[in-house]
Amino acid sequence: MTGETLPWFALVLLLAVVAIVWALRLTPPRVSAVPADREVCRDEPCEMAWCRECSAHRLSALHADGSHTCLTCLTTTAGDQ
Ligand SMILES: [Zn+2]
Repeated sequence: MTGETLPWFALVLLLAVVAIVWALRLTPPRVSAVPADREVCRDEPCEMAWCRECSAHRLSALHADGSHTCLTCLTTTAGDQ
């Protein structure tokens, strides 16, 4: 790198940093329209299941061992059904 290109390189670098900062500033904060509990359903099947804590059928994540976790109160119920 010669003495000619160094200032240009620094300028490009500066512009890149400014651009990144602007992009981050302009990016709206990630509003999760989907509640966090829905994240669980990406990895595991979810369906309505009886929750003792809620005393109601709630959307629950079904685990491989047959148990399920209520996505409302996060109580894990043994799969005894
Ligand atoms: Zn529950």
